[in-house]
Amino acid sequence: MNLHKKYNLTNVINAAGPYSPVGVSRSSKYVCETVATSLSEFFVIDELQDRVNEALCNFTTAESGTITHCSASSITLSIAATMTGCDTDKILALPSIENMSNRVILPVGHVVNYGQSIIQAIKLSGAKPILVGTERQCTTSDIEKELSKEKTACLLLVSSRLTKGTLVDLVNAVKVAHNHNIPVIIDAAAQYMNIEKLLSTKADLVLISAQKYLASPTAGVVVGNKELVKAVREQGKGIGRAMKATKESICGVLAAIEDRKNSNDKKWINTQKDKIIYFLQNIKNLSGVLATEVPDSSGMPFSRVHLQIDPTVLKIDAATLVDKLKKGSPSIWVTESLILKNVLILELVSLSIEELKVIKVCISNILRKKL
Ligand SMILES: *Cc1c(COP(=O)(O)O)cnc(C)c1O
Repeated sequence: MNLHKKYNLTNVINAAGPYSPVGVSRSSKYVCETVATSLSEFFVIDELQDRVNEALCNFTTAESGTITHCSASSITLSIAATMTGCDTDKILALPSIENMSNRVILPVGHVVNYGQSIIQAIKLSGAKPILVGTERQCTTSDIEKELSKEKTACLLLVSSRLTKGTLVDLVNAVKVAHNHNIPVIIDAAAQYMNIEKLLSTKADLVLISAQKYLASPTAGVVVGNKELVKAVREQGKGIGRAMKATKESICGVLAAIEDRKNSNDKKWINTQKDKIIYFLQNIKNLSGVLATEVPDSSGMPFSRVHLQIDPTVLKIDAATLVDKLKKGSPSIWVTESLILKNVLILELVSLSIEELKVIKVCISNILRKKL
């Protein structure tokens, strides 16, 4: 079945990484089959959540885990959990916050926008974001000043390429928060491959988007402290209703975890390396384009390709090239965060060699027309 033909949809090559506007990731055949089977079956959803809790505990060093609709939901519901605990009256009262602590401390450089501002995801729970530090820096003592004030619900930190300024020392930030008995949540939506490093900071909850590098259907993985995970699950009676995990997403996460357990990490890493080498070899003869390999800045085990465009040689700037790539057929999407520096960023993780060839041909066709 060709869905693109049937429903008149644009064919996309996604070189932008796990990017929501183009469908994030590609699931394996095993995950697809599991999801398809689950859709025509009934389950006790609590039992599915129990099984995925076991699977997450087994797969990571976390004490407990649960699934929400997505990481944006996980942010809202984890904060809610720090405000209500498992108190049903409080859970039913949200977003009214009477008799609850609702200050959420967040470094200024961690005010990310992943399609929605994280500030809104915080406020949806009824919490009040308190920003600390500056865009350029947030020290442990900046954080500590706010932690000691009354009515603080939690410290929220983000581990992402989207954060700005000097990296916040996560381990020390967690320590300081715990000295004040304040729980810490780390939004690490696109950092599944760093999950152990993030859990080792002793943060109370770590949030991962399963549809990103775990390549399952859309789902928010929440792992960490048992009591808090339970309180996240309990939000289903309240504001969490609109953010619930579906049967197919939970089954999909279970299958994706099995996939990971059975996969050979070394082989995966080598496949990614081979694709980078292949692409660099192919693109290097395009004059006016300088292609380089850039390792992932957060330590995930793969690189991206940066294409530096020289507008004086090519008579076209990076923004125009990106626009033409998107409007072409197939429509090619890349990361645009360095576009003002005339750099296109390409992530090849979910692409095939055939797609890499198509990207090369499309880029050279656009550039040739301009010369
Ligand atoms: C993708 C992302 C989110 C949102 O995740 P969803 O699962 O799409 O809701 C939140 N925070 C960061 C840092 C992200 O990269």
